Formats: sequence, C-alpha cells, structure tokens
Amino acid sequence: MNSILQSIRRLALLAIVATPLPLAAADAPAPLADSAGVYRLPYADGTHIKIFDDASTHRPRGRIDMTGAEGKAPYRIVAAADGKIMAIQDSYGEQQSGRAAADCRNNFVWIAHDNGEWTNYSHLRQGSATKGAKLRVGDKVKAGTYLGDEGAVGCAMLDHLHFEVAMPAATKAIDTGGFLLDNDDSKRERNARFCNVTGAVAKDKTYVAEACPAP
Ligand SMILES: [Zn+2]
Repeated sequence: MNSILQSIRRLALLAIVATPLPLAAADAPAPLADSAGVYRLPYADGTHIKIFDDASTHRPRGRIDMTGAEGKAPYRIVAAADGKIMAIQDSYGEQQSGRAAADCRNNFVWIAHDNGEWTNYSHLRQGSATKGAKLRVGDKVKAGTYLGDEGAVGCAMLDHLHFEVAMPAATKAIDTGGFLLDNDDSKRERNARFCNVTGAVAKDKTYVAEACPAP
C-alpha cells in the first residue's frame, strides 16, 4: 500500500514537472511605446534599404538593423530628424564577433531631438562622422544631414546601420560605449515611427529612404 502511494506521488510530481508553466504576465516585459517623433529612414534620399532585423526580431528588442540594398556601398547615413549631436565615436576600425567580444567597440552617433527622444546610428565607418561629415558634439543638424557612412565596425556581422529611438534617462543617457543607461528590458527603446512607411518597418522588407513631407 505504502509503495503504491509513493508511486502515485512520484507520478504526480512528474506530471507537475513535465507541464510547461505559463509565462506569468509579470515576467513578460511591457510592450514598447511608439515613438513620439516621426522619423525619416536614415539613408540618403533615394537609397533602397532592406530591414534585416526589425524591433521585434532584434536582440535586444526595440532596435532596427538595416542595410543599403543596391550594392552601391558606401551608403550615406543621414539624420532621421532635426536635432543636436550628443555623442560621436568613430575612432574604431575593427569588426568584432558579437558572441566572442568581451566588449563591443562600436562607432556611433547619438542625436537628441526636441521631443525628448534620442536616435542612435551605429557601426559607422571609421572617421566617416568626424572627418567625412565633419561632425562635432553640440552641432545642430537637420533631418537628412549627412552623418557618416554605413559600416561594420564593432559587433556587426556585416555592413549595416543599427538604428534606435529611445527616451533616455534625464541625468546620464549613455555610457562611453554608446549604450543607453538604465535600460532594463529595453524599457527606454521606442518603436520607431517613420514617414512614408505604413505601420512599423518589417524584417526582410525593402523601403526607399526619402525626406518626410512638410508638416
Ligand atoms: Zn543592431
């Protein structure tokens, strides 16, 4: 009798262990808000670009990886909206493995916009922001201002632009590596809204970068 009871208990325990637990709502990160701003696709006018990771497939989430799709590199990256240059790093020249690298030495430009959001343009070619585009921190830029060239510097598998829109922390927005601070679960990322695009940009789709229509 005792051993039968034990067997039943063991089976019951197995059943509990084998049943996948539903993900509690509290464990799922909150969905990201849409951006306050409406941005242009950050390539020179007329560039055909392909999305190879959108905000839902990119890891971590909320960022977009895109690449010029016409075999006409170097592709010119431009500001997604009017704003002010907050940070520039374009001194690196090495392509790294995102899996193997202890720390990613990405080149980047961060721009602050009047709506409070910042945009990031990462993996730019070495020297293309400071020497090519002659950018300095504090410069005011317009939507469409040339920022540098698409590259594969830092943790990048291929030439592409890593783009993100975020609502930064009020005191210190980014670290020296260009990564947003206080960004657990990517909570500061925003789903980028683009002009000339219906809905969110989607993985494997191609788009043509153009200026936004006048408001
Ligand atoms: Zn990326």
